[in-house]
Amino acid sequence: MTRSGIGYDIHRFAEGRILVLGGVTFPGGRGLLGHSDADVLCHAIADALLGAAGERDIGHHFPNTDPAIGGISSLEILRRVRAILDAAGARIVNVDTSLVAEEPKIGPHLDAMRANLSSALGLDPRRVGIKATTNEGLGSLGRGEGIAALAVAAVEMAE
Ligand code: MG
Repeated sequence: MTRSGIGYDIHRFAEGRILVLGGVTFPGGRGLLGHSDADVLCHAIADALLGAAGERDIGHHFPNTDPAIGGISSLEILRRVRAILDAAGARIVNVDTSLVAEEPKIGPHLDAMRANLSSALGLDPRRVGIKATTNEGLGSLGRGEGIAALAVAAVEMAE
């Protein structure tokens, strides 16, 4: 059967951090605060995939209290999620995402982000969607205090 999952994540900007989205490093500016590289897009995808496969969430599998994963690339988290799904007999069908951010401009980096994500997940790039929108100046995201990401994923499993 085909099963779907949903993921959401949000990280706040912090000084002295490097911004990484979809495994792409954005030069200059501020980065996001987090135990890993704080790649909010990868984290939302991880939760969508884990949810679709009936697994517990990213915080369970990759606790932010674990020093072994401090500063880890979130593409590596996705590779490990893929292994968890493989062990569960879940085959990824597709992933789709939306980033919510006032800045930076995502468009010029979309292809590189999609290549990183599809490679980490072992998918054809056409099975990985990345969209971006601003929050129209509304609320904390609109004030540029952080970046949020939403993801959905579909997997095929025997049951
Ligand atoms: Mg996160």
